[in-house]
Amino acid sequence: MSLSFTKQILIIMLFSILFNAYYAYIAQQGTQSAEISYSRFRSELTADNIKKITIKGAAVTGEFRAKTKVSGQAQGKTADRVVSLFSTFMPAISDQTLMSDLTLHNVEVTAISTESSLLVNILIGIAPWLILAGLWWMGMKSMRNQGPGGVLGGLSRSGAHTYTMQEKGQVTFDDVAGMADSKQELKEIVDYLRNPKKFERIGGKVPKGVLLVGPPGTGKTLLARAVAGEAGVTFFSISASQFIEMFVGVGASRVRDLFDNAKKAAPSIIFIDELDAVGRSRGAGFGGGHDEREQTLNQLLSEMDGFDQHQEVIVLAATNRPDVLDPALLRPGRFDRHVVIERPDWRDREKILQVHVRKVALADGVDLSIVARGTPGMTGADLENLVNEAAILASREDASAVSMEHLDKAKDKILMGGERKMFITPEEKRITAYHEAGHTLVASLLPGTDPIHKVTIIPRGMALGVTQQLPEDDRYHYPQSYLEKRLAVIMGGRVAERLVFGEVSTGAQSDLKIVTDLAEKMVCQWGMSDKVGAMTFSRGEEHPFLGRKLAEEKSFSEAMAWRIDQEIATFISRAEQKADDLLSVNRVKLDLLAEALQQEETLDGARVDEIIGSSTLKISAR
Ligand code: ADP
Ligand code: ZN
Repeated sequence: MSLSFTKQILIIMLFSILFNAYYAYIAQQGTQSAEISYSRFRSELTADNIKKITIKGAAVTGEFRAKTKVSGQAQGKTADRVVSLFSTFMPAISDQTLMSDLTLHNVEVTAISTESSLLVNILIGIAPWLILAGLWWMGMKSMRNQGPGGVLGGLSRSGAHTYTMQEKGQVTFDDVAGMADSKQELKEIVDYLRNPKKFERIGGKVPKGVLLVGPPGTGKTLLARAVAGEAGVTFFSISASQFIEMFVGVGASRVRDLFDNAKKAAPSIIFIDELDAVGRSRGAGFGGGHDEREQTLNQLLSEMDGFDQHQEVIVLAATNRPDVLDPALLRPGRFDRHVVIERPDWRDREKILQVHVRKVALADGVDLSIVARGTPGMTGADLENLVNEAAILASREDASAVSMEHLDKAKDKILMGGERKMFITPEEKRITAYHEAGHTLVASLLPGTDPIHKVTIIPRGMALGVTQQLPEDDRYHYPQSYLEKRLAVIMGGRVAERLVFGEVSTGAQSDLKIVTDLAEKMVCQWGMSDKVGAMTFSRGEEHPFLGRKLAEEKSFSEAMAWRIDQEIATFISRAEQKADDLLSVNRVKLDLLAEALQQEETLDGARVDEIIGSSTLKISAR
């Protein structure tokens, strides 16, 4: 639905050229004559220097008898000019004696009706708008040609792209690395779409709707595309948030239109991304979008029910929050089949990397399994990004191939953000060094926390310094003890600052937010507080669509709310106390780490161990 980037640039350029030309024309009209003040005009009249004037409304133009020097604006500069023509405006206060003075000085007076000039003025006034509208119209036209549902037609159309087999983007299961189970489950649908007749003869029952459940970036869209590619059918894809518009009823008509198109193109696949944007439980809505979302959802439900037996249209939808979906969506005949897509384990990560390094030249000695093992938690999208970043780094260095080192740097960039150049005073550097040393030391001293991957005081992303921990292996469960240690590690930065400088700085702000969110989840979602008990509360739950918290209706009492607050505070202060104890006792190590950080700026895990280890030796030697 979007114009290509270059086209947009071209249109913007065209615009500015037209506008400049237009204003240059307007400005140029004033060059032979000069605009003078009305009082100057009066004094010239008294001096008998006015030959003739033309009055058009309040605007007066005229000719001097002799060329006259005036100072005026020309091309943005103030300069004295000698002109024979002038223009001025009559003040709103009517000049009673003007006419008699004009007659007295023998000035030739012409009056022009303002009517005609009004028309010209209007024309000049709307010219740029006409151009604008024209360009807009042209833009829309080209957008509409790209798919069924440009913006003009968008009020009634779906805005879906169609990807037919012949077009680009022919994706097959080969392009989707790993996910063997998910692929197996979707094979059935591919078989059906390839040969529906055969399938029906055998009497197989084909699901109409399949829900792909998994975190963002794990390849749900890719998988849906691959199903269409394998089956060789038309692929319609839309993000559910595109259904929701400002106007009530638009979403529903878009749904109708999308399904109409898909039925016409059958056999086909409809892919709806972010299904939870429309599919959230009815009644859980908020504000004005409520009605619209409900209508859209109802339309979606009735379309899915309306398929008859022989319509070979399969609806795939993606979400990472199946729990918030309206139960009506999950009923038999609708999205009754679920395919869960997990974050890839290291074997799958290696396969995903293999898919994405097809396009780049790899140096000898690159071992993708090492990269795969070192990137727990990363999704397919992250890994694609990693290969991409590494290739960019390599080409920036004019290297002939991507090396292990490039991949490593790319990983750091993705994990910790890009390095930023900014001026930092030695004092700030010292504070940051102690802050990061605090995180690092608490993490190193507490058994069972994730090992330190890297710690740096080079500003990265939004932060002045970063301590990056990386689990050794893929993690699926987080025991409470692990999370409590995690809280202590995050508090470590702030605690170190207070210990050394006697006060905290603003640098710990984002740490506090993370700590609060984590503690809130521990209490409200994972039932880790004895006082609150094994219950879950909607508190601390992020709105999946907006990605932030909403003031939702509370389903618990004020007394419980108070207790929750108390418990969150307790969790945090306990963690702070733990960090404080550890750092006070190990002050020597803290100093050593901070010192090393100020000198070396970035330490990796091994170096951190070395520094802490050596200090242990020193202490025990004393
Ligand atoms: P989702 O729809 O789950 O948010 P996408 O399908 O949009 O994720 O994935 C984004 C990108 O990540 C894909 O275009 C693809 O390049 C890459 N990717 C994700 N998973 C895989 C995978 N299993 N194999 C290869 N590439 C993958
Ligand atoms: Zn911090």
